Amino acid sequence: MNNYEITVGLEIHVELKTETKAFCRCKNQFGAPINTNTCPICMGMPGAIPTINKTCVEYAIKSGLAFDCDINNVAIFERKNYFYPDLSKAYQISQLEKPICINGKIRYKLNGEEKFTRINNIHMEEDAGKSVHDAKLNKSFIDYNRCGVPLIEIVTEPDIHSADEAVATLTSIKETLVAIGVSDCKMQEGSLRCDVNLSVAPKGSDKLGNRTEMKNLNSFKAVKRAIEFEAQRQINAIENGEVIHQITLKWDDDLGKNEPLRSKETSNDYRYFPDPDLLPISITPEYITRIKHTMPELPYDRKNRYMNVFGLPKQDAETLTSNINVTNFFEDCLKLKNQPKVVCNWICTDVMRKLKESLEEEPNVSISAQNFVELIDMFQNKEISINSARELLDRVWDTNESAKQLAEELGLKQNNSADDAKKFVLEAIANNPQAVADFKSGNQKAITYLMGQVMKLSKGKINPQIATQLLLEELK
Ligand SMILES: [Zn+2]
Repeated sequence: MNNYEITVGLEIHVELKTETKAFCRCKNQFGAPINTNTCPICMGMPGAIPTINKTCVEYAIKSGLAFDCDINNVAIFERKNYFYPDLSKAYQISQLEKPICINGKIRYKLNGEEKFTRINNIHMEEDAGKSVHDAKLNKSFIDYNRCGVPLIEIVTEPDIHSADEAVATLTSIKETLVAIGVSDCKMQEGSLRCDVNLSVAPKGSDKLGNRTEMKNLNSFKAVKRAIEFEAQRQINAIENGEVIHQITLKWDDDLGKNEPLRSKETSNDYRYFPDPDLLPISITPEYITRIKHTMPELPYDRKNRYMNVFGLPKQDAETLTSNINVTNFFEDCLKLKNQPKVVCNWICTDVMRKLKESLEEEPNVSISAQNFVELIDMFQNKEISINSARELLDRVWDTNESAKQLAEELGLKQNNSADDAKKFVLEAIANNPQAVADFKSGNQKAITYLMGQVMKLSKGKINPQIATQLLLEELK
């Protein structure tokens, strides 16, 4: 593998999170009962005239701005003609000559190094329906609900040279689009789909090899595996003197290999032509400026700010920015408690622990920032121990009862009285002469045991710092 260079370009389809479809007023909704969100327009009935949904244009421009694209002042819709049962119009409304966004780049960090993948273009198009195969009945059905759901397709330049770079590029795309609110980018629901174009060539060669295209990649892990598999397959073929054919392959994640799907088509095969039903869209600089002002801080910039301004470790900055729910929660907490490092530590350990326990694919932070900050305050003010804080978090997660009130009710408040601490320390010493003797003969571990006894006698409520200090004094 070391003698070859892998070259990868990505085509990423993203479903836009609009209320209605791209060209009609049907609901854009995942998981609706089969064939309930359809109308003559998205079904392509004769005489039905499509009208562009303004939000699609806005979201496409937002996406372009997030990736430093140039926004074309005119965007034209074209018909991409092909027949497939899930596309009743026999053409897809898409863009070829005048896509809405061109150029641009996807920034990411890999192993501490700043990198980017260039974007060729971002264009708007509509989704097709879905074939549903029933193996028992040996029949296929079609659900047209997805027909006309708005998409953007992000086409990258072939700048990617490893599976890790491909995954990092995809991760950056997902984080960015979720943060700007244009898509939920759920691969498992198909709102983010990725096709991979891959070729290999001897290192140092100025010509790219013949490429294949891989489809049916349903997770980032599948993308990584498929790239590694296909690169090796092509290298083996070249080593054996075979020619790489330009074909489309279907990735089988269970078998961990590619199956040929069809010979690779080119844009000529689709007989693109401007859609006569849709006028060119003119995009003014004023409109772009207006959209620019609605853009939130991007995850990449935010990550850098957390590291450079707040001084957070890279790992933590990544944790805080890789999930928009966590980012928003962190920002909400900071409004109430301006101690980024403290809040970050609590989120990266305890909130992340709770999120990992959740069975949901994209779990929500189920405690209010206010309640969470109160919990941290109680710990900082030594009102509760770290164990009590964690116990409280477990109890108020989901219910969002007041942690403060619950600490009172459950008697979790820490006892900071030195007199009480001394009482428990003396009792522990009196009850455990062996441990005391062990300590005096130099066994440091005995102190841990004795502290355990102190905590037990106090039912876990005595302040451990005060108790430890008193214990050491008494033993001297
Ligand atoms: Zn419709």
